[in-house]
Amino acid sequence: MIESSARHADVLVIGGGIHGLSTALHLARAGVKVTLLEAEYCGRHASGVNAGGVRTLGRHAAEIPLALSSSALWHDLPAILGDDGSFVPSGQLKLAENLAELEECRQRVRQLQALGFTHERLIDQQQVFERVPSVARHVVGGIWVKDDGYAQPFKTVTAFRLAAQRLGVCIHEQTPAQRIEQTGTQWRVTTPAGQYHAEHLVVTAGAWAAELAAQIGEPVPVHPEGLMLMVTHRVAPFCVPVLGATGRALSFKQFANGTLVIGGKLVGSVDFPSRHGEVEMDRLAASARTVIDLFPHLQHLAVNRVWAGVEAFTADDLPVIGASRQASKLSYSFGFCGSGFQMGPGTGKRLAQLILGESSDICLDAFAINRFNATASGSSSVKPATTLARH
Ligand SMILES: Cc1cc2nc3c(=O)[nH]c(=O)nc-3n(C[C@H](O)[C@H](O)[C@H](O)COP(=O)(O)OP(=O)(O)OC[C@H]3O[C@@H](n4cnc5c(N)ncnc54)[C@H](O)[C@@H]3O)c2cc1C
Repeated sequence: MIESSARHADVLVIGGGIHGLSTALHLARAGVKVTLLEAEYCGRHASGVNAGGVRTLGRHAAEIPLALSSSALWHDLPAILGDDGSFVPSGQLKLAENLAELEECRQRVRQLQALGFTHERLIDQQQVFERVPSVARHVVGGIWVKDDGYAQPFKTVTAFRLAAQRLGVCIHEQTPAQRIEQTGTQWRVTTPAGQYHAEHLVVTAGAWAAELAAQIGEPVPVHPEGLMLMVTHRVAPFCVPVLGATGRALSFKQFANGTLVIGGKLVGSVDFPSRHGEVEMDRLAASARTVIDLFPHLQHLAVNRVWAGVEAFTADDLPVIGASRQASKLSYSFGFCGSGFQMGPGTGKRLAQLILGESSDICLDAFAINRFNATASGSSSVKPATTLARH
């Protein structure tokens, strides 16, 4: 039986992925009384089963300020969490496999520099070979980000959860929010375990967040995808940075135990009512072939495990972050389109600042929940930060 005082908080957070936990943690650091409701267990979905890529490289320009602020927090996790969250600052490298791709990389870096961003750096073939000596000799260069890296997602989520709990965040797992309503100055959330109340509500329910937003008349075009990953047997260390490719889908890293994690937004299928992602083996095989093209010595390496996690995708490939435009004291953070793990620390901090009324030089306009309505009616109140999309 949960005591009635535990059912009242200053802020109620719905969803215990990295975004909910990070927001709860940053609010608790400011002395706010936070309760978090999680339908299953913290880290059960995308935040705990993703590829662990901590990547500012290749982001849509609108996301870059938030991603860079998040990057600084990843490097500072021991001070924030009392734990490094398993983060390894290995660097990330996007490979160009021919001259046309190298030119694409050059243009991208130039455009970013024109916008004032210098974190992505063009490197030549020799510099690629220095970083990854065994990569195939057809690679001609790439883009390098030295402060990127990777982490082990479930360890990171657990570190956030434990740090939040140490600061007094009250977490109720197996407690799905079924209905959200604002009554007077209070939000009321109905769950199978009874009702919870708070002055402010935060919806960080990943692929399920849009269902809650729709309840208060704020529909968002979000659809779930089952993103796939595979892990190989162990192999002797040969690759330190995380690798991506310019012309084909790839995200590739070697963990300290020798296993390789291979992905790159490989879309499987999803059984949404069962909250379950399904693997499509033929698509995974195509990704394995990319790896062998780049590292022929891995030809006979066996795959140990495959899975698919459920992730939320929006119509414009950007997340929804910020205040509701329909109701007061309601905030959102969801729809991270396959790249939200890296954004967790920074977005949680920024959302907490917004709720606390603190100013920040990171603008959230590009992520406004009402931008989709504006597009549908042909007029846009939210201007895109720039036209430079993801690469
Ligand atoms: C296979 C895969 C690989 C990926 N690789 C990377 C990567 O390398 N780098 C990167 O940056 N990103 C990556 N991503 C994306 C990243 O994992 C997500 O963008 C991020 O974890 C989203 O976090 P979240 O907290 O918004 O959502 P989630 O982690 O999905 O958390 C939402 C939580 O809300 C809970 N919930 C849902 N409905 C309710 C309800 N009604 N009441 C209470 N709780 C509810 C869910 O159970 C869930 O635990 C990958 C994703 C997948 C699936």
